[in-house]
Amino acid sequence: MMVNYQDPDYVHWGNPSHYTRAIQVIDDGLQRLVDTVDADPFYRDNTVFVITPDCGRDANPLMDVPFQHHFNSRAAHETWAIAFGPGIDSGRVLDRQVDQSVVAPTIAAIMGFRADRAEGDVLSDILI
Ligand SMILES: [Zn+2]
Repeated sequence: MMVNYQDPDYVHWGNPSHYTRAIQVIDDGLQRLVDTVDADPFYRDNTVFVITPDCGRDANPLMDVPFQHHFNSRAAHETWAIAFGPGIDSGRVLDRQVDQSVVAPTIAAIMGFRADRAEGDVLSDILI
């Protein structure tokens, strides 16, 4: 299942609180998802979470609107990811730059199949 929160993009309207409030909404939603999985005996030890934004953020150089991502800055192209669940090394921090294209084949590897059409390599450094 993929959940796509688009709430942070409402910052394009120009109000920074749309971004920070959206982060709170997402955080609460993720907590509910994790709690729901943890309460279900079938999914509890059979679910992997991968949380990643689809883009980084930068500031609009033409007006005072922060948290944008349309200005081709380095920050707009940098993201992060958190993965946890069975098969993932708990507590491991991979502090190096990788391409975002590793996410799809890594998720596939965790789920037990190869993503033959994905461009990136499996990020095996995080797997047990
Ligand atoms: Zn946007």
